[in-house]
Amino acid sequence: MADLRILLIGNGGREHALAWKLSQSPRVEAIFAVPGNGGTATCPKVTNVSSVSAEDFPALVQFAQSNGVNLAVPGPEAPLVDGVEGFFRNAGIPCFGPSKEAARLEGSKTYSKDFMKKYNIPTAAYENFSDYNKAVAYLDTISHDVVIKATGLAAGKGVIIPQTKQEAKDALKEIMVDKAFGDAGDEVVIEEFLQGDELSVLTFCDGYSIRSLPLAQDHKRIFDGDQGPNTGGMGCYAPTNIATAELVQQVDRDILLPTISGMRQEKQPFRGVLFTGLMITPAGPKVLEYNVRFGDPETQTVLPLLSADTDLAEIMLACTGGYLDNCHLSIEKKFSATVVLAAGGYPGSYAKGTPMTVQAPPAGSTIFHAGTKLDGQQLKTSGGRVIAINSVGESLRAAVDASYAALAANVIDFEGKFFRKDIAHRAFRDASKASMTYAQA
Ligand code: AMP
Repeated sequence: MADLRILLIGNGGREHALAWKLSQSPRVEAIFAVPGNGGTATCPKVTNVSSVSAEDFPALVQFAQSNGVNLAVPGPEAPLVDGVEGFFRNAGIPCFGPSKEAARLEGSKTYSKDFMKKYNIPTAAYENFSDYNKAVAYLDTISHDVVIKATGLAAGKGVIIPQTKQEAKDALKEIMVDKAFGDAGDEVVIEEFLQGDELSVLTFCDGYSIRSLPLAQDHKRIFDGDQGPNTGGMGCYAPTNIATAELVQQVDRDILLPTISGMRQEKQPFRGVLFTGLMITPAGPKVLEYNVRFGDPETQTVLPLLSADTDLAEIMLACTGGYLDNCHLSIEKKFSATVVLAAGGYPGSYAKGTPMTVQAPPAGSTIFHAGTKLDGQQLKTSGGRVIAINSVGESLRAAVDASYAALAANVIDFEGKFFRKDIAHRAFRDASKASMTYAQA
C-alpha cells in the first residue's frame, strides 16, 4: 500500500538520485522536493516545491503537516547541522537524519577529532586551536606536513593543504584572523597530512545497527590525473578493488562500529546515513572526516547498486525507528561508474542558463541532474556541476565504458560541457583487474 508522503530537502545530484530510488518504492505515494531540480521534476511521484524555503524550518514543518508528509529526508548537511531533525521530531514527523547534537560529527571538526581520540578511532594526529598565536607557535614545533581545517561548515572550502610552513601560517591568518570562512574559522584543527588512497563509505545507522554500502572512490580534482583545483566531485565508482574484504572488515570493526557505539555512549545516538571519508594509509584506514548525510557523487554511484527489491524508503524509516536489522537491503554484485559533466570554467566562474538537451540513456545507464532547471519546457544549466551519467555493469571496465559511450553519443549536450576522461583510473592501475566481474574480483 502506498502510504508514505516524503519531503525531500535539497537540489543537487544527490537529491535526484534519492528521489529516483525513493520513487521506486511501492510504499511511496508522493515526494515533495524542496526545491528540487530539473531532474527531480521529471521523476514519477515527485513535485518540485518552490513556495517554501529549505532554510525556513517552521515553514517546512507547516508544509509537511498540510500535505500529510510522514517522512522528512534532508539531503544536505546545513539543515541537519542547524537542527532540522528536531523541528520534525517535535512535530511528530520522522526525519531521516541525525539530531543537531549528533550532526556535530560533521558540523564541528574539533568535536569530531576529539570524539575519535576519545573512542580510539584511527585518524590523523592533530591539535585544536582557538588562539591564532598558539596555532602559529605550534607549527614551529612540528616537522611533518599538515592540513589546516576550519572547524565549522565552510561549503567544502575550509580545508587547506599548505605546501610550505609559510603557506600554513598564511592559511591560519586567513581562517582565524581575516575570517575567510566567518565563524567556521573560530577554531581550527591542524592535523598530520596523510598519504594514501581516499575512499568513502556510506553507512545506514539506526543508533545501534549499521548497514554499509559498497566502498566508493570520488574524484575531487577538476582535471584528469587528479590535477587542478578541488571540486565538489567529478566522478565516482564502486565498489573499488582498493577495498579488499579484509579492509572492509577492518573499517567496520575499527571505525564504523566504534563510531556508532561511541555516539550512543555520548547519549547522542546517530540515526541516518553516516558518510565516512577514509584514507587508506600504510598503517591502515584512517578517518579523514565524517559527514552526516549522503555524499555527492557517491549517492549517484551506490544507490544504483541496490537491488530493485531494496526499498530505500523502508530503510530510512527503519533508521528513524530503530529497526534497521529487520530491513531487506541487498546489493547487486555489479560495478557502478558515474561521470559528472560540469559547466566550462568550473570550479572558477562559469555560465548559467545554457540550454541543454538530454536524451534517454541506454539500458543500464541513468542520468542524474544536479545544476539544471526547467525554464518552461527548456532545460537549462543552473550550476557548476550540471549533470551526471551513471552506468552499472558486470565489471568496472564495462560500467566505465558504458558511461563514456553514452557521452560519446551525446546523450547529454550543452555548450561548454566538460568532464574527466579517466574516472576509476586508480582501480585500473593494475590493468589485469579492470575487466574482472564480481565473482572474479
Ligand atoms: P575533509 O573535508 O576533512 O575530508 O577534507 C577535504 C579533503 O582534504 C579530503 O577529501 C582530502 O582529500 C583532503 N584531506 C583532509 N584531511 C587530510 C589529511 N589529514 N591528509 C591528507 N589529505 C587530507
